Amino acid sequence: MSTIDEIKSRIDITDLVSEAGVQLRHAGKNYTGFCPFHDNKHTPSFVVWPETGTWRCFGQCNEGGDIFKFIMKRENLEFKEALNKLAARAGVEIPAYTKQTLEQKEAYDNLRKLLEDALIFYRRHLLANANILGYLRSKRGLSDASIETFGLGYAPNAWDSALTHFTQRGYSQQDLLEAGLVSERESGGYFDRFRNRIMIPIRDENGKMSGFGARIVDPNDVPKFLNSPETPIFRKGSLLYGLDRARKPIRVADQAVIVEGYFDVIALHQAGYENVVSPMGTALTENQLRLLKRFTRKSVLALDPDTAGKIAVLRGLETARQSLSSKVPVFDEAGEKRTDAPELIRFADQLEVEIKVVTLPDDLDPDQIVERNREEWARLIDTAQPIVLHTINSVIARYDLNNPKDKAKIVEQLIPFISNVSDPVERDDYRQRLARMLRVDERALLDTQAQPSRGRRPRNAQSVQKRAAAERPNVVVTVSSSKRAEAYIVGVLFKKPELLYRLDRLLQEYGLIALNAEDFEHTDHQMLFELIRESVEQDKTEQHDFVVESLPESLQSLMQELSAQAEKPQRMEEKLLEDLLRGVIKLRRVAAGENLNQLRFLQEEAHQSGDLRASSYQGLVLQHTRLLRDLDQAYRRMTLKRVN
Ligand SMILES: [Zn+2]
Repeated sequence: MSTIDEIKSRIDITDLVSEAGVQLRHAGKNYTGFCPFHDNKHTPSFVVWPETGTWRCFGQCNEGGDIFKFIMKRENLEFKEALNKLAARAGVEIPAYTKQTLEQKEAYDNLRKLLEDALIFYRRHLLANANILGYLRSKRGLSDASIETFGLGYAPNAWDSALTHFTQRGYSQQDLLEAGLVSERESGGYFDRFRNRIMIPIRDENGKMSGFGARIVDPNDVPKFLNSPETPIFRKGSLLYGLDRARKPIRVADQAVIVEGYFDVIALHQAGYENVVSPMGTALTENQLRLLKRFTRKSVLALDPDTAGKIAVLRGLETARQSLSSKVPVFDEAGEKRTDAPELIRFADQLEVEIKVVTLPDDLDPDQIVERNREEWARLIDTAQPIVLHTINSVIARYDLNNPKDKAKIVEQLIPFISNVSDPVERDDYRQRLARMLRVDERALLDTQAQPSRGRRPRNAQSVQKRAAAERPNVVVTVSSSKRAEAYIVGVLFKKPELLYRLDRLLQEYGLIALNAEDFEHTDHQMLFELIRESVEQDKTEQHDFVVESLPESLQSLMQELSAQAEKPQRMEEKLLEDLLRGVIKLRRVAAGENLNQLRFLQEEAHQSGDLRASSYQGLVLQHTRLLRDLDQAYRRMTLKRVN
């Protein structure tokens, strides 16, 4: 979840509006009140939608937005100021995002250069230390070639060896701190962050130095693994160890294998299995899955039995589904929150990727497996099961199938889980499997809790969206899918601003007005869109570069999110334009539909209280009705065109 979404999720818009002195009254699902932005204390024309966190004035202003827009207007703030203010209120920290300006790029290049120098420094200390080298060769079974290829090093057992070495070479203490090589003492001054540890350089998928992972040498030291701190170039949740070397093999094999540790990656590469990566010792995140998707849609998690068992624990299925966190902590050394299979499945669904799980046998690490028998690894990976099946099997394994009470417990846990599988064919298949395993009639399973959930709308937002797109024009589109549609549109236009003119022309052909900031409900989307609009209206700089260069820092997180967005922009431009058009029509239909409902309500209310404004609402009602009709027509024409 982005910072902005997180802030939104934590601030109730009705609180915010009430605190601004607007008295809100319940009006159906929504609230109405007098607009704080224009002068009319006669009829309430101001509406708040708590569910979407949005507001709109149907009176003189005829304007609306989210919490940020509200605060910006109310207190006359810039977006950045509003962001800071509401972040503080929500207790959300705004990450120090990176400006992709030249200046900052230079700063990062310097940071990376320092890290490359550090690699050489640690490496020299490793080569001078026969003990540690011996450990890597004999205990870890690493060849000299692997040690060289992966750039392993050793941080000496001293508080100031890196500090002294690098300050003598002209780096400032601040440089070292920013690169995460030293830490700051509370009493002032600095000390080496890494001491008496094996150093593992971590590069991004393009091979650029990002930071270090460091493993203990002395078994009494803690923690076992220590990473570089989060820096602008070392963002753990967006890196995968080994991907710079594994990306090609992953693409060739059309499969990525995800293991738990750095040394597992190195050992497997050494054994000739090069499509292997690992997260940074802590968590597998949605961003990491998205990163992998650039190379393959198929991932296998190779887990030790402990982790494999834990990801299959179906505690709090609902909580996991609704979880606000975008983290999928599969591997958590610190023993904090472990992975939920439902969460992983949700991300796999959203990203349209396939995740399988294989449990490593006999408590062996991958390096021990390949050492025992090189071929065994390939055979093992072939036995990986889809994560849903893995979960089903793991749950069943915990119970006694001959005990009716245990069987009931299995059904109780697994039926809701299976009902959540978004693909109906898969869902039926899993249900049948479960019936066979339990040796019960499948209908018995349907008769329990499965039935109601069948008729229910699938909880998976994406399948709702897919369905919505396929059905008749009068679809109800969920809030989150409308947010996603917004993000999709700005995301594509951000990457290809030149499409905007063509989209505008297309809209015009369908009798609709050009895309404008008001089409977006989220302030950050609005702002980015305005930049995109500006970029096509200038001709000094390449359009995409213009957007990137003029992007305010407050939109960095949005930009990073959008850059990571699914790779649809690779599609043919014609297809993209069609998607954009459909997206815009959808957004406008949802907005017009909601506004119309609310207007009718306001109109009725004004009418009853004998307010003259009732007639002015009538104008707006007509306008929205016409708009909806035009949108429906456009939608139908578009669909017909596609069929022909
Ligand atoms: Zn107003």
